[in-house]
Amino acid sequence: MGIRLSFFGAAGEVTGSCYLLETDRARVLIDFGLHQGSRETELRNHRPPPIDARRLDAVVLTHAHIDHCGRLPLLATQGYRGDIHTTPASADLATILLRDSAELQEADAARDARRAARRGETAMPALYTRDECERVFPMFAPLPYTTPREIAPGVTLRLIDAGHILGSASAELSVKAAGTGGRATVFYFSGDLGPRGVPLLKDFQPPRSGPIAPAVEPDVVILESTYGDRDHKPLDSSVQEFAGVIDEAARSRGMILVPSFAVGRTQALVYHYGELLREKRVTRVPVFVDSPMAVDATELYCRHRSLFDDEAWTLINNGQSPLKYAGVSYLRSGEESRRLNDMEGPAMVIAASGMCTGGRIMHHLRHHLWKRDTHVVIAGYQSAGSVGRQLVDRVPRVMVMGEPIIVRAKVHTIGGFSAHAGQSDLLRWAAPLKGSGTRVFLTHGERQPRQALAARLRESIGIEASLPEYHEVCEV
Ligand SMILES: [Zn+2]
Repeated sequence: MGIRLSFFGAAGEVTGSCYLLETDRARVLIDFGLHQGSRETELRNHRPPPIDARRLDAVVLTHAHIDHCGRLPLLATQGYRGDIHTTPASADLATILLRDSAELQEADAARDARRAARRGETAMPALYTRDECERVFPMFAPLPYTTPREIAPGVTLRLIDAGHILGSASAELSVKAAGTGGRATVFYFSGDLGPRGVPLLKDFQPPRSGPIAPAVEPDVVILESTYGDRDHKPLDSSVQEFAGVIDEAARSRGMILVPSFAVGRTQALVYHYGELLREKRVTRVPVFVDSPMAVDATELYCRHRSLFDDEAWTLINNGQSPLKYAGVSYLRSGEESRRLNDMEGPAMVIAASGMCTGGRIMHHLRHHLWKRDTHVVIAGYQSAGSVGRQLVDRVPRVMVMGEPIIVRAKVHTIGGFSAHAGQSDLLRWAAPLKGSGTRVFLTHGERQPRQALAARLRESIGIEASLPEYHEVCEV
């Protein structure tokens, strides 16, 4: 056999990332993420792909988002005992995110079990428990960016900055297999790519560019296509919009509620507010980051500040901190959180969950959504059916913690804070492949964005990309 590449997730969708690379002597898994979304989609998590965990030689994790790492605990229960190669920051962040995921899995399963019992049926057990999840962490084998490491017979890995969240990486795999005359075939998995100019982090490194030595021309590229069909609103105008909401709330002495993902989005918003304050472009209001997970994640961002970009480092060298500055309080305990209930505005509360599907943001919504001087800032994707989506859709009343609440607050949807590269940035990433003969597969995108990106790659770079289906297997 030559080299076989199987697509066991994120093929024609954006979650459940999972690829298997096999040669005559090695088997390497790249990412093992949760399928997320509808119940139907999530059932796939309980139907494992045809991978014998005990026969895997190595696992590579591109970054800590749960749709990339969320099924790793299943490998441990299925008998995998090898390493999980990832950047030091991703190993740290994945630990936080996986623990949270295990808690959610247990809570969901307990709720399903109660419902099933009332119907006289039995429910599915939790996908994994907290104990099972703990078995993953000793397997993390941290690997800094650009350092080569032989991870399986004939397979050498380098992780390259993807500029998406802290520690995120593209994975370059040089693979030697029988029948290739000793020559390595180079695979380049983009992982999730950030937009250029993302706050705090360095921009992504396209294949064959930058300070990565030696520059290797990839034979096969697997490129994400989440926003393959469009560009985001410019970041600057989104930051300006954010400032406008804060000024308005400051004038009317209202609360600003920001539902936010604990990892990435929260740190970006705190950074942007600090930047607005330094440039005197906004009124100063007290800010409360009310989420134990966001507090932990922020600590990790600070611990891994060597990964920050030049702008963040200019601040640090001037004795300032991009994430910890006067007026920003990080709240861990429930008691501190409850104290916010009696507080008078103006003040800004940033709390999880990002789509208002649970977490402390629900308490704040219950306390303030019915007031006319409250402002809600929606700064991230809201899935259909979530309270966050209902707010975006201007539903007059929403159910919060079992109680119907009238929405008198002003809801602001600010679209430019994405952690994903838009179409132009994806094309820029792929530009060095022009005329290279590299084989390109597009993944991690729904049908429309993936097809749109394929068309643009054909027009502007002359590349004919393949669009693999779920469970498709390719010989390379
Ligand atoms: Zn991601």
